[in-house]
Amino acid sequence: MLLISAEEIRAQTDAANSLINKVQKLYEALPETRCRCERPGQCCIFLPQMTWIEALQWFRHLRALPPGEKDNLVRGFLLFFLTNPARPGHCPFLADDGSCGIYELRPFACRAYGMWSYSCGRQQTEQSREGKKALVAMWRRYGIELPEDVAVHEIDYCDKMIVRGQKSFTDARLMELLSEIYQLDDAQPDLQKRFEDGYQSDFSALMASLVWGPRKANLNKYAVIKDIVQKDSDVRLKKLLARVTAPF
Ligand code: SF4
Ligand code: SF4
Repeated sequence: MLLISAEEIRAQTDAANSLINKVQKLYEALPETRCRCERPGQCCIFLPQMTWIEALQWFRHLRALPPGEKDNLVRGFLLFFLTNPARPGHCPFLADDGSCGIYELRPFACRAYGMWSYSCGRQQTEQSREGKKALVAMWRRYGIELPEDVAVHEIDYCDKMIVRGQKSFTDARLMELLSEIYQLDDAQPDLQKRFEDGYQSDFSALMASLVWGPRKANLNKYAVIKDIVQKDSDVRLKKLLARVTAPF
């Protein structure tokens, strides 16, 4: 499988302005929301799922940042990649006060979280639970016993989001909108396929592959998880992150 290179990302973030504008336009169909839970940001402990064009939005944002800020965020993504699912983490854009550091460009998954019906939300949790169990079994085959409370941790269904206006915004309408956003990826089918098949649409996995190459990224992850689980050591993790600079 052909991987995605830093050169392609540079070229596409420059060329994809109109696609990114279209995503933004589709987001406008969502109603305004307000969070009223006691711990804002509690739902940001994982990276959001995203389409390829939504990933390009993030790359374009990162590329425009001053070098120091950009490097710090790249390290945040690598920290997530290397330690998940052995240690609790969070999206690198989550600020200390629980706010989102990329609010205008947060993906559909973040925008719609808390808008799905209870039954739909539970169904999504069930699906992700099965995926997490499979992950625990995979690491066990590598001789590593992940801490179950972290590896299969779930976020509670959110019923604390206030949706203003359009009360009739249904699961069906959310799916329709998600599908329209997903269809924008059709403009770059090759990159979309590589993002989905090669990185499971995981922004942190793509970032790690850009920094270290895919094989080394996975071997680094294996070594860091082993250190954490078997020695409770961060030495290698710190060394790896200290040397990193943004690859684009
Ligand atoms: S989406 Fe829900 S859980 Fe997340 S911050 Fe808003 S109210 Fe809290
Ligand atoms: S993009 Fe923002 S809302 Fe979404 S997970 Fe990250 S911090 Fe949370």
